[in-house]
Amino acid sequence: MSVLTEFLTDQGIEYRLNVSLKELSSFKIGGNAEIICYPKSANKTSLLIKFCNERNIKYLPFGKCSNVLFPESGIKSLIIKTDKMNSTGFENGLFSFGSGVMLAKASKYTIDNGYKGMEFAYGIPGSVGGAVYMNAGAYGGEMSQCVEKTEYVDSTGNICVIEKDKHDFSYRHSFFSDGRYVITKTFVKLEKGDVDSSLQLVEQLQNLRKTKQPLDMPSAGSVFKRPEGYYAGKLIEDCGLKGYKVGGAMVSTKHCGFIVNFNNAKSEDVKKLISVIKDTVLEKYGVKLECELKFIED
Ligand SMILES: Cc1cc2nc3c(=O)[nH]c(=O)nc-3n(C[C@H](O)[C@H](O)[C@H](O)COP(=O)(O)OP(=O)(O)OC[C@H]3O[C@@H](n4cnc5c(N)ncnc54)[C@H](O)[C@@H]3O)c2cc1C
Repeated sequence: MSVLTEFLTDQGIEYRLNVSLKELSSFKIGGNAEIICYPKSANKTSLLIKFCNERNIKYLPFGKCSNVLFPESGIKSLIIKTDKMNSTGFENGLFSFGSGVMLAKASKYTIDNGYKGMEFAYGIPGSVGGAVYMNAGAYGGEMSQCVEKTEYVDSTGNICVIEKDKHDFSYRHSFFSDGRYVITKTFVKLEKGDVDSSLQLVEQLQNLRKTKQPLDMPSAGSVFKRPEGYYAGKLIEDCGLKGYKVGGAMVSTKHCGFIVNFNNAKSEDVKKLISVIKDTVLEKYGVKLECELKFIED
């Protein structure tokens, strides 16, 4: 047993070896991860990071892997997956969510407790931690509007908490995007609402998603950020790239802002396709597209 697996076993942190990232990611692309572990708390995460630092072990945190492109060569670094940090709580009007809680579950939990403001998050297939990292948003809502404070483990292994303004939220960006942190818990503040109206809104937004997005094919959602004054999908469609293919990757025919894995795509297919899209849009409209999708490397 390696020192790492010995440490994980001693700490009672679950782990898996040689895991297919293709299976794990919403894009269904990627080689194998050498090792993935699932700490259950900030304390365990802190011990883990301190251990990694002492031994020079690289690590990468992930939630539901719904906004990432993994390489075909796989990942050697330790993957810290937040799935087991899945507590939900509600006290004095403040919700607390472990970073691994699915957004749909978090959103439903707030509605069931009679609060409004997180309906937008219901259909985003990520975790609360991933959504804070990305400042995920949809249909006029985004995490910045409801996150009150966040607990995380910093790169030295210290458990820290930041309050509202320190999150430095902007479009698909947060304080966490710029550093090596592992988000462990987030607190959300909402206004009182009406359960039926919130459920109706969720249904409306879900219907919109179903009609506009290619939810029947593996993808990582919108590949590009919205350029100021434009919509990435519309620009790509106007360039005649609807349905354009590279290997097993294709510009969705339903929503050109999505790239879908229609036939066993490789990460290189997606990268090449992105490069064709960027070059074409720049040449035709002078607009520089920026990726929202995260390219993961060791
Ligand atoms: C069909 C589909 C529809 C989508 N629709 C939307 C949408 O409407 N709006 C939107 O904003 N996004 C959308 N997305 C993209 C994605 O779901 C969001 O970005 C989501 O917030 C990512 O969460 P995740 O847990 O999957 O993060 P991951 O994909 O696991 O990680 C994304 C990034 O966050 C980091 N990260 C994740 N968890 C942590 C943590 N606990 N601590 C530190 N860093 C962390 C990772 O290192 C990585 O860099 C969609 C994706 C799909 C497949």
